[in-house]
Amino acid sequence: MNPGVIRPQIQALGAYEVPDSQGMLKLDAMENPYPLPAPLQQELAQILSRLAFNRYPESRPERLRELLYQHMGVPHQAGLLLGNGSDEIIQMIAMATAQPGAVMLGVEPSFVMFRMVATFVGMDYVGVPLDPQFQLDEKPLLQAIEYHQPAVIFLAYPNNPTGNCFDASLLRKVLHQSSGLVVVDEAYFPFTDESFLPELLSYPNLLVMRTLSKLGLAGIRLGFLAGPRELLDQLEKVRLPYNISVPDQAVASYLLSRLSVLQEQTACIRQQREVLRTQLSSLQGVTVFPSEANFLLLRVAGAARIFDGLRHRGILIKNLGKAHALLADCLRVTVGSPEENQQFLAAFQSVLEQTVCSD
Ligand SMILES: *Cc1c(COP(=O)(O)O)cnc(C)c1O
Repeated sequence: MNPGVIRPQIQALGAYEVPDSQGMLKLDAMENPYPLPAPLQQELAQILSRLAFNRYPESRPERLRELLYQHMGVPHQAGLLLGNGSDEIIQMIAMATAQPGAVMLGVEPSFVMFRMVATFVGMDYVGVPLDPQFQLDEKPLLQAIEYHQPAVIFLAYPNNPTGNCFDASLLRKVLHQSSGLVVVDEAYFPFTDESFLPELLSYPNLLVMRTLSKLGLAGIRLGFLAGPRELLDQLEKVRLPYNISVPDQAVASYLLSRLSVLQEQTACIRQQREVLRTQLSSLQGVTVFPSEANFLLLRVAGAARIFDGLRHRGILIKNLGKAHALLADCLRVTVGSPEENQQFLAAFQSVLEQTVCSD
């Protein structure tokens, strides 16, 4: 078969790499380390056993939607779009806005899926570099918006992989200056007090996206987008009718009604983030960036060797050294349970000492 039918932009892509993590301490993907309490697992097992797997899922699951409005603080005047993870929502937004000349704008470094999805749908992508403190760089950003008139801007808030929230007043300037959609991706909302959800209906072009993944439900795929109803009615047209599976709907509904269980877990992760941050900061030669998320970004000389050393000790984190010029010698580690964090810290220290000695 001649692969020429595949668009050159797709042929040029590397596949999104999910590293093999079997048997490893997995601190690379911002997962919640805690399992559900046993009584909840048992109740869920009961619920799952009664589901009709022979039937298609509800296309517009009203109970689940209502629970999201209620527990996520989405104003009732706002519209809501559900996705199979927020990744699928990024794809839906891109599919609905892609047309010849349409631009998607993002900042760099940020979540790689924005650029990838732009490529999938054949949309032009413009990435504006952040400043060295990983903040929005006002002048070049506003100039790029003025020049490219992007159909859609994606800003992760807090940002991944840098962990910080952008300056809110500057983000409001972006909202004012943009004639297109501005999507504020709040995947890390459980770990910060910052949010644009309360400002949702103050701007005609503001959309807020969230996911249950970082809250502790990465294994079910559920994200949502909130914003002006007229806009979401349009985006809803590109949603595939059965995108949220029967078990995903059931598990999400069950746990949204018991959200405090997950909130206790994320509060603990948030606390441990500061513990780990203090410990890592005290190490010679290690810079830890401030984080409002469930991960820490660090800079250390010999990061690539440290990453390899940790992997050999069975600990998987993320090496970002090659991801962007601003991330030279940077590593990202997900905050796990206190035990996991101490295991990571001990291994990190020992690899760090070896790296320094061999220099
Ligand atoms: C993890 C992450 C997502 C992906 O969320 P899913 O709902 O699991 O698809 C979206 N945005 C950012 C910034 C993320 O870090």
